[in-house]
Amino acid sequence: MPKIIHYRDNCIGCNSCVEHAPKQWRISEEDGKSKLIGSTEKRGICVLKISEVELEKNELAARDCPVKIIKIVK
Ligand code: SF4
Repeated sequence: MPKIIHYRDNCIGCNSCVEHAPKQWRISEEDGKSKLIGSTEKRGICVLKISEVELEKNELAARDCPVKIIKIVK
């Protein structure tokens, strides 16, 4: 099962990932950074398993993240 890894501390809140994959991403009203919905977080690194169906949208999110803090592990 693929995984998304989000190095959240360096997020600049540009909203690009939300536009690509709104089921997995939203901007937090608390700190303006994106949140990986349903992920588990350890020391600022968020991890979420996703299905193959969700993979393509999140690969685009990773590709277009301006600070390259979204990684996809297959
Ligand atoms: S695309 Fe990257 S910098 Fe922009 S909100 Fe998403 S994780 Fe943050």
